[in-house]
Amino acid sequence: MKRDLKKDLKIITKATPGPWQARSWSIPTDDQFHVQQRDEEKPKEIATAWQGGRYPDAPEISAEEARNNAIFIAESREGWPEAIRRAMVAEEEVERLRAEIQRHIDLMESSAEVIAGIESGNRDFNMGISAAYRTAAKNLRKVLSEGETYRCIECGKPTENWVEVCGECIEKALREEKPGDF
Ligand SMILES: [Zn+2]
Repeated sequence: MKRDLKKDLKIITKATPGPWQARSWSIPTDDQFHVQQRDEEKPKEIATAWQGGRYPDAPEISAEEARNNAIFIAESREGWPEAIRRAMVAEEEVERLRAEIQRHIDLMESSAEVIAGIESGNRDFNMGISAAYRTAAKNLRKVLSEGETYRCIECGKPTENWVEVCGECIEKALREEKPGDF
């Protein structure tokens, strides 16, 4: 499923204010690596990246892994909202540029038609100009279609043109369908 970025931003605003930083005790205890607020005089403790096994038979987390997890948690406090905002700005910009290209395609196509319809003057010349406009419009259409990826509305993976739900998701839905589900 494609992420709802606005919802993600909302989740971020509800978390303890950043920036956060990863810290470690010098003694290698289970809770050696942890995350706390960075710029506060009295920083809040945010999370502990546990190492070792937290209960019998639990898979072990190495000190290196725990350290990396603490850094990841701390960095995500500022990194994740920035990534979301940049993605949103980029998506808007792509939309704006695509609309602009489409406007030029429309302009060129209508110009090509008008010029081809002019009976006076040099007919060959007019037809040449008209064809040039059509070629330019065609090239711009290609630019648009190359960037166009159709994505599955369930999982977000690219799909065959015009298909809303990918084959995998259809199969999964069919497998999960139980009698009485209608
Ligand atoms: Zn899918």
